[in-house]
Amino acid sequence: MPKVKDEGLAGKGKDSIEWARAHMPVLSEIARRFLKERPLDGLRIAASMHVTKETAVLMLALRDGGARIFLSPSNPLSTQDDVAAALAEEGIEVYAWRGMSESEYFWAIEECLKADPDFTMDDGGDLTVMAHEKGYAERIAGGTEETTTGVLRLMALERDGKLRYPVIAVNNAETKRNFDNVYGTGQSTIDGILRATNIMIAGKWFVVAGYGYVGRGIANRARGMGAKVIVTEVDPIRALMAAMDGFIVMPMREAAKLGDIFVTATGNSGVIKAEHVSSMKDGAILANAGHFDVEVSVKDLELMSLAKRDLRENLREYLLPNGKRVYLLAEGRLVNLVAAEGHPSEVMDMSFANQALSIEYLVKERGKLPAKVIPVPRWIDSEVARIKLRSMGIEIDSLTKEQEEYLRSWRI
Ligand code: NAD
Ligand code: SAH
Repeated sequence: MPKVKDEGLAGKGKDSIEWARAHMPVLSEIARRFLKERPLDGLRIAASMHVTKETAVLMLALRDGGARIFLSPSNPLSTQDDVAAALAEEGIEVYAWRGMSESEYFWAIEECLKADPDFTMDDGGDLTVMAHEKGYAERIAGGTEETTTGVLRLMALERDGKLRYPVIAVNNAETKRNFDNVYGTGQSTIDGILRATNIMIAGKWFVVAGYGYVGRGIANRARGMGAKVIVTEVDPIRALMAAMDGFIVMPMREAAKLGDIFVTATGNSGVIKAEHVSSMKDGAILANAGHFDVEVSVKDLELMSLAKRDLRENLREYLLPNGKRVYLLAEGRLVNLVAAEGHPSEVMDMSFANQALSIEYLVKERGKLPAKVIPVPRWIDSEVARIKLRSMGIEIDSLTKEQEEYLRSWRI
């Protein structure tokens, strides 16, 4: 049986979804077409996504396309309970509430797999990996993956010769990761830090671990608010990019002594560990915008601290043996989705337009694609950008015949 926290919140959730939809013109256009053409008629989709107002607009678009949807969260703390209630009222089979335990979280994912889905839609890889580990994969025709770490996990599954069905790497679409990962995470991470702490960012030392798409977005937004930004990296090219973008680059063992605010954005584990925390200033704030709650080692914090207490929502104080205190936001889980509402609707518009069109593509190509991690077709990427530009009232030039020929020619 589908399960949400409080069905009585549906009205509030509906208003919230309406607000999101008003800022998602690309997905709305696709939804209107889906309603007419019903390309997903009779199909079942199991999804593990953050249950937010933006995800709701996507789920309702897929339903309008004819699919039956089974939805579980992709993080135990990111569910917006009013949105989950509204979706349940709309006939989406939702298994999600904010504050699930680890076992409830995996239970919810498995409930969706038990529904015998034709396709999976995942954010982070937990659903797809469980489908493979628990024997559901054989009956699944294809899937999509929303985020960087999920794509990396599925590529590892493919490398081990274990991936059983084609999965489209939505994350790697240009209209996804150049916008969602960069501007979406940039803005919503600052939003999460501010909602949890309400501190001043101007003038602070702000340390960003990782200078990929996500780290770059956060570093730029923090600089825009007047912080002195330090970047830590392990990749020499990314470190060089950060240095030439004007950021201060140094190892974490040095940055740990200087930082007032730390944000991890690596997708890796143990980026901030006991040895770093021990050398931090009194009052340092730690947050994660990357993946699981292992980038900032919560385990180390728990082991090394003498006491802990919750001072505000999403703000936990740890008292260290050296008498200093550090503050962990959102239990070390994604600060932008736990302490704030995730990315703004305008940017999720493009990510989720890629999701909707990728599922439609998988349906059309059913049985023809290899069991590999495959890119979003280029025409989908271009189509998403074209509709987005149109919705923003922006026109661009097109190549003349002479220019096309010039670009194709090798002659002097
Ligand atoms: P990316 O691969 O472009 O960047 C990750 C960077 O971290 C790389 O440059 C890598 O060299 C660096 N790195 C790895 N280990 C490190 C370490 N120990 N110290 C310092 N740097 C290290 O990936 P991305 O697209 O930027 O995504 C990063 C993470 O954020 C992923 O886990 C992704 O799933 C997640 N993500 C989160 C959100 C969100 O809403 N919070 C949005 C998009 C992606
Ligand atoms: N299971 C992982 C998932 C990584 S989340 C975890 O929680 O640790 C990163 C993804 O969240 C991004 O790729 C982004 O597309 C998605 N996201 C960000 N804001 C969102 C929003 N408002 N609604 C739904 N998904 C969102």
